[in-house]
Amino acid sequence: MLGLMQDRPLALPHVFHRAEQYFGHKSIITATATGESAMPISQWAQRVRRLATVLDTLGISADGRVGTFCWNTGRHLELYLAAPCTKRVLHTLNIRLFPEQLVYIANHAEDEVVFVDRSLLPLLWPLVDKLDTVRHYVVIDDGADVAIPDDPRVHDYEELLAAAEPFEGRFVVEDENTAAAMCYTSGTTGNPKGVVYSHRSAVLHSLISLIADGAALSERDVVLPVVPMFHANAWGLPYGCLMAGSTIVFPGPNMTPQAILSLLEKHKVTITGGVPTIWMGALPLLADHDLSALRTILCGGSAVPKSLSESYREAIGVPMLHAWGMTETSPIATMSTARSHHDSMSEAERADVRARQGQAVPLVDLRLVDPGSGEAQPWDDTATGEIQAAGPWIAAEYYRGEGGGAQFTSDGWLRTGDVASIDSTGFVRLVDRTKDLIKSGGEWIGSVELENEIMAHPKVAEAAVIAIPHEKWVERPLACVVVAPGETLTADEVIEFLRPRVAKWWLPDAVEFIEEVPKTSVGKFSKKTLREKFGGYQVAGPIEH
Ligand code: AMP
Repeated sequence: MLGLMQDRPLALPHVFHRAEQYFGHKSIITATATGESAMPISQWAQRVRRLATVLDTLGISADGRVGTFCWNTGRHLELYLAAPCTKRVLHTLNIRLFPEQLVYIANHAEDEVVFVDRSLLPLLWPLVDKLDTVRHYVVIDDGADVAIPDDPRVHDYEELLAAAEPFEGRFVVEDENTAAAMCYTSGTTGNPKGVVYSHRSAVLHSLISLIADGAALSERDVVLPVVPMFHANAWGLPYGCLMAGSTIVFPGPNMTPQAILSLLEKHKVTITGGVPTIWMGALPLLADHDLSALRTILCGGSAVPKSLSESYREAIGVPMLHAWGMTETSPIATMSTARSHHDSMSEAERADVRARQGQAVPLVDLRLVDPGSGEAQPWDDTATGEIQAAGPWIAAEYYRGEGGGAQFTSDGWLRTGDVASIDSTGFVRLVDRTKDLIKSGGEWIGSVELENEIMAHPKVAEAAVIAIPHEKWVERPLACVVVAPGETLTADEVIEFLRPRVAKWWLPDAVEFIEEVPKTSVGKFSKKTLREKFGGYQVAGPIEH
């Protein structure tokens, strides 16, 4: 027997029309090079309607890929809706990628048009001759002092909008499985792989950002997404905010800690989100700002060091809300929101819980699988295994099925490549990534855990641990440490600091002091670069453990 409920598509036009109808008076604010622009949603929605017909005028195919090369701005949000609501596919290009990767991605996705912020033109324009399918470049003038090429392919965003008729009536996407957006993962090896989100996945994922045990976005919130809109849809915050009716504050091109903190203070932001690097940078400046309105700092993309979260709790009373996910998981998969069974814990124990990646949000299923045997592992907080994920906003395959066969199991789960233990209440604790594990004498050393312990040292700014080859143990850990500004530190001090904190055989065989941990295009530690740098590393002299 079938249920007798209406079969209505879960599609982004609903999010657009809901925002337009109910929240027209709410603001979308964007920080610009010269100040700020604020626009009521009613006006923004009219611009989306004009943009919809602009895409027709430019001759973008019925399911054409609409590239964006933009900062977090209100105009980027116009594209976030206009492209999918007209059944085109929004393709957010990552501005931090290397030129060859950008060329590969735009060609692979077959972008027909790229909307580019004027300030970012110098990164994109040198590549145009290699972008085979792009017919139009639409420059969004963000006030940057950058020459606009005199080329028939180049258009001005505002001129196109001014000349366009607004689309009338309601946008309709009949099939909720239609592609809405795509984003390439910056894999550490091989070519980037395309993740293609559907309307259904985007709507369900947005809904999850409204739940009380998640980000809990509400109409009363003022939300500042620091996490870029070119990386996994800014963790779903833009669509979530429109669905909830939250006020949105976009940081624009100026992503310095000072600028972010000023916006948080000025607009009495209640929810913000960004990778740990952002919050590490802002930490020394917290005392200069009144952040009393802030209730949630979403943090993820890399493990959130306990020390960082605790510093925020102590300074402003708001620890990090730790979340885990991947481009392939839209990205929210787990969140470490405190539960009632944590209430009786000491503050120190609660800090340990916050350092975990948290519990799977509703509709996401996880399992823990031993990478060698393929056996499911118990959720006893001790056994470790690879996390595999399944759910309506988890990728089933990569665009054109390329390069990712190994990442999906035969029974349809995503192999995340992240290694974790899970406690009996489902709280995930990531201990490593399969590509990063250090296997010493047949036993695993969690490099991420080791890094977190080193980063808890007050004189350490950043640390990354990689495996170096060892004759006897096969692999041993090398700690690459960045000393905090103005401090001095020796290898022995690092080891002595670690000694009471980790098993003896986990102590790094060597400590290298480096100026900065190399980062990938999305700000994560690039272990690959470090491994290349220290690949032939020979331990100079034994550090006495
Ligand atoms: P990306 O697809 O670029 O967003 O990268 C996803 C990967 O980042 C995950 O598979 C993890 O390895 C890592 N990651 C994301 N969030 C966290 C987190 N909270 N803790 C540790 N690693 C994380």
